[in-house]
Formats: sequence, C-alpha cells, structure tokens
Amino acid sequence: MLNKLSDTIYYLSNQDDRERPTLGLICGDRSSLIIDSGNSPQHAQDFLLEIENLNVPPVKYVVITHAHWDHFLGMNEFDATVIVNSQTNEMIKEWQSLSYDDCSLQKYVTTNQMSAMCMKIIQTDMPNRDSFKLKSPDVIFENTLTIDLGNKICILESIKSTHTDDSTIIYIPDEKVVFLGDCAYGTTTNSLFHYKQSLLLPMIKDIQKYDAKMFLLGHESICDLNEMNIYWEELTTASQVVKSTSLENAIESFKAENKREPNDNELFFIKAFVNDHIIQSQ
Ligand SMILES: [Zn+2]
Repeated sequence: MLNKLSDTIYYLSNQDDRERPTLGLICGDRSSLIIDSGNSPQHAQDFLLEIENLNVPPVKYVVITHAHWDHFLGMNEFDATVIVNSQTNEMIKEWQSLSYDDCSLQKYVTTNQMSAMCMKIIQTDMPNRDSFKLKSPDVIFENTLTIDLGNKICILESIKSTHTDDSTIIYIPDEKVVFLGDCAYGTTTNSLFHYKQSLLLPMIKDIQKYDAKMFLLGHESICDLNEMNIYWEELTTASQVVKSTSLENAIESFKAENKREPNDNELFFIKAFVNDHIIQSQ
C-alpha cells in the first residue's frame, strides 16, 4: 500500500527485512516523478502496480538518490527518463559492467565488490537475470536541476553527505517536503560504522536551507521537522566532543560540556565519530 502524504505526494515505506528503501512518487498536472527505483525489478514492479491503482499522470522521470544498489537496481523497469548526478553516474557504471548469473554474483561477493545481502536479494527478486544488463541513466546533472511536472516544481540538488559523496536530495517547495535518500545516515568503511564528521555541518546547512516540514528518509520513511531537528541536535552535540580516536576522552568531554550522560543515540553517534577518526588515521 502506498502512503499518501498529500494530494500530490505518495511513498512506499521501506521494508528492512528485504533491504527495500523508501520509494517516492510526486505528481504534477502533466507528469509524475519517482524517487529511487527500488532494490530489484520485483521491488520496482510492486511499486508500479500500486501506482497504476492511483490514476495519476504518467511517470516521466525517475531520480536516483545515490549509487547504492538498493536504490537503483530496479531502474530498468521504468519507461521514464532516469536522472542522476554526475558522481552517481560514474558509480553506477561499475554495475553496468557486471553480469548477474549465480557464478558471477558469487565471485563479486568473494572479492567484496558486492555484499552477500545484495546477492541474496538479486537471487530472490530477479529470477531471470543471466542476460540482465543495467541500463544507463538518461540525464546527468552537476549541482542542481529543477523539474516542472505541471504546477509542481521539484528541485534536485547534489550534496556531499555523511553517508556518501554522491547524494541527491529532492525538495518540493509548495508541499515543504524533502526527500533525503540515505544522506542523513552514516556509512561502513573497513567494517567500521562511521559518520563523515567533516561533512556533517555543511550537509545540515545544505538541507536546512530548504523550508521543509516533512522529511522522507531511505530507511525510516518519514520524520517531521521536530524529529529531524532532534536528530541533527543529537548528531552535532555528539560530533562536538569527538576530537580524537579516544572514546573515553569523547565521553568525558561530553559530560563536562553538557553536565549529563549522553543518551543512547548520542552514545551511538559518539562511537561513530570516533570510528571516523580511526578511519582517517589509517
Ligand atoms: Zn545508501
């Protein structure tokens, strides 16, 4: 079932047990735009089936928020213009050269080119894939791109985020809604979960310049402004006290500056920023 956020914005909730991220649908008077194409052709088909029931203008555009497989592997299913930023385009090229038969998939997992979870989803949700080739995106933009769907403006912006360098966010001004993809999350490098500390404040600034009251996230579905502000606040408070690879020092400094213990979220973020220092020092 699609969730209806307004008369012109819908989304399909994320489904964690199947590694399925949130997918968005924005409808103008003339055409509709999709945000993220799903983690597999099956995910895309499930979404398209829901859209068919809505009687909305034809889907003309698909925007991919970043080059993680779960956000773009369903791309071939859409008869629409696929839009990515230039960095996402470069990263997707690697996936276009892959073969998707069992033997090749196993090889990619062994060489760490692909996660075991990705292989499992492909094997489950792409039964006919021995000759599968991922298509190329159609429109590649650099910094921003504005699309008018007919009395419905969508502003796409490429930003560097704590999750990836190639994040695209999508803002719908008249609804005050922004689709963030995974940009507000951390990432895993060399088995360490971390937030890219140097990008935290610039990223929050890039997002907060938009007057938004609802935020769609890749693996959380939806947050209101208050929830988002608490999230930013916890992240920045945690970041401020992490200045080295020492978790102990960071926690001591948190207690000194805030006159209290960090809550569970803050502690999780502090550890992630310490991990970022460890990765930077390697
Ligand atoms: Zn991601």
